Amino acid sequence: MALTFDTELLDDSTESIEKAAELIKKGELIGMPTETVYGLAANAFSPQAVLKIFKAKNRPADNPLIVHISDMSMISDIAAEIPQLAVSCAKKFWPGPLTMILPKTSKIPEITSGGLPTVGVRMPSHPTALALINAAGVPLAAPSANLSGSPSPTTAEDVMSDMKGRIPAVINGGECEAGVESTVICFTDDAIKILRPGRITKEMLEEVSPEVLIDKGVMAKVENSEPAASPGMKYKHYSPKAEVFMIDGTAEQFRHYIREQDTRDALCIVFDSSDMKGLQIPFITIGSTSEEQAHGLFSALRSADKHGAKVVYARCPSIDGVGLAVYNRLIRAAAFRVITL
Ligand code: AMP
Ligand code: MG
Repeated sequence: MALTFDTELLDDSTESIEKAAELIKKGELIGMPTETVYGLAANAFSPQAVLKIFKAKNRPADNPLIVHISDMSMISDIAAEIPQLAVSCAKKFWPGPLTMILPKTSKIPEITSGGLPTVGVRMPSHPTALALINAAGVPLAAPSANLSGSPSPTTAEDVMSDMKGRIPAVINGGECEAGVESTVICFTDDAIKILRPGRITKEMLEEVSPEVLIDKGVMAKVENSEPAASPGMKYKHYSPKAEVFMIDGTAEQFRHYIREQDTRDALCIVFDSSDMKGLQIPFITIGSTSEEQAHGLFSALRSADKHGAKVVYARCPSIDGVGLAVYNRLIRAAAFRVITL
């Protein structure tokens, strides 16, 4: 697309939020901080405004958007039906990083839901996101504010690097706390099904419903010919320019494997510096807890590009708790290239 905007980096003052809300009301897009990753926000009710999101991101038209609300009263214009289990989830996890898939009303245009009869709804907890939704007076459709396929943005600078010239403004709300996108769930009979893992874990959802299922697209590749429960899962995703390999093994096995590779233009993504003992290759650490890894993963993938790495060897994360979300993003960044030692 033609780069037509002189993209403004706004601070998160009330004045800036008002300015951004005016742009939303005029049908424009805003880069918006949330507690998960930065979003690219537009009026969810306006097909013209939502079309601009798809164009700015190069996003496939069948990949639906999440609609963000700031108050429970907004949901009746978005969701046609709200099962009891959804009410319980909203009470426990909203505002917060949980997206619920519900039947949509006719007020939600087809383009927002990617042509599906359902819509994803979430109430974010980031005060700037809530203030922007309030000031705009409409729910905001907002996918992650990256170019389709590349790692999600966790700082305003990341948004600028992908969206400069494509949108009028980005609000700088600092670094995102969670660092991975929201957990996406749907409801089947009396069960909750996780379509995309995120900061709200299976264990946390089990406090609301004893039965929590995990969609098969979470751990494995969804073929393009198959219908995807969560359409985003079937696309190339989160990838830096480098070719990423996920290395499943102990730190010692990892070091042994790396020593045997041609490591020119290679970079390692590891948990802590002791993983690299004795190796002379550039590396980025993302921490040893799943929470730290979630927080640091996308920024590490973006840094790999800044280093000009051609190959990235990343240690395989644990899949416990929020680790499942880290694994789900990394295996896609690696295009399912897992080396099991
Ligand atoms: P993003 O906001 O870029 O992280 O993408 C939102 C993701 O939420 C999509 O890629 C889908 O996988 C999921 N999603 C949104 N709406 C729906 C829906 N109606 N049904 C299933 N998944 C959805
Ligand atoms: Mg995304």
